[in-house]
Amino acid sequence: MSIPPHILELIRQRVALSGVVARQVRLVRKGAEQMGLCPFHRERRASFTVHDGKGFYHCFGCGAHGDVFGWLEAREGLGFIEAVQRAAGMAGVDVSDWIGAAARTRVPMDAAAQGAAQRQREADQRAEGEKFARFRRLRAAEEAEHLEKRVRRALDLWRAAVPIGGTPAEAYLRGRGIRSALPPTLRFHGALPHPWLQVSLPALVCAVQRGDRRHRGIWRIYLGRAPVNGVWPKAGAAEGLEAGEGVKLGLGDIRGGAVRLAEACADLRIGEGVETSVSALDFGYPAWAALSTSGMKSIDLPQIVTRPVLLVDYDHAKLMLQRVDRRDRAVWRRFGVEAAMEAATRLYRQGRRPALWMPEQEGQDLNDMLQALRAGQGVAA
Ligand SMILES: [Zn+2]
Repeated sequence: MSIPPHILELIRQRVALSGVVARQVRLVRKGAEQMGLCPFHRERRASFTVHDGKGFYHCFGCGAHGDVFGWLEAREGLGFIEAVQRAAGMAGVDVSDWIGAAARTRVPMDAAAQGAAQRQREADQRAEGEKFARFRRLRAAEEAEHLEKRVRRALDLWRAAVPIGGTPAEAYLRGRGIRSALPPTLRFHGALPHPWLQVSLPALVCAVQRGDRRHRGIWRIYLGRAPVNGVWPKAGAAEGLEAGEGVKLGLGDIRGGAVRLAEACADLRIGEGVETSVSALDFGYPAWAALSTSGMKSIDLPQIVTRPVLLVDYDHAKLMLQRVDRRDRAVWRRFGVEAAMEAATRLYRQGRRPALWMPEQEGQDLNDMLQALRAGQGVAA
């Protein structure tokens, strides 16, 4: 007998997912959701949300998504059976009728009986394995359905967006010194709903295409409501966002995806953000935008890109305590640079010859460096 889906649903409803997640991630309440730094990718600004009502966690940065069972599997290294048992314990739901028959098998003393018991245990385990394979398929189907829902929502928003020419989204990019023609993968939406602010804001909407070219999501850069000193700003404190959180968010099936600003070529430039990558266009370099540092690590590139050039922000080193060999040690970390190194390693292993482009000064944004170069301010190339 297998655990009926409604029991799994009951467990999901009874467990406050945020309580489980909060053991590993510091969460802050934002409306119906709670937010924190994503444990599945390195990020400086929170884009990881937990929705207790829906029983799901979701990351707008890397697309990580799952329920309490998925969390326990991914973060505590449990198998699905163990994850169900653990969550059932938290929920006060008795699943012993469905799980644990093998564990209750007694071990008899004599060798022949022991052999028989062993075979019985193995048969039980196989039977349980099959049951849980069915649950897993069910859950995978459910996850896929949720993903397709997000993809449809993303494409609806994309279709509702307008060409970028003459819009605040264009004004935003021009305000950053960008002069080149803007590609059709960039659009503008005048009132894009924000997932946790409960308001709509103007936004730069970018098409996210997977490695196989399929358009399966969008990248959103929320903008302020009006220009400040003649420059169109990103959304910020005036719109109710703290320290830049929730300004740049993905939606849909964005894992491994990129915003294609030009046709792929052998030495395609890959920037961490849309702004840097559009700046590269200014200098005549075909470029794609990865979606944040985590996106750069997982980007799927076509075969033609044999010598990718990664555009890296030289971020300030952060001093932090880290557990090394069961001891706390102070270490300097540069998450942006580290992510680029990891990306380069991965691309190298794929048989490509990646190069890294980085400003010379720590803390310098590559976009600023490119624009300074253009303005002839004497920054070395
Ligand atoms: Zn994430």
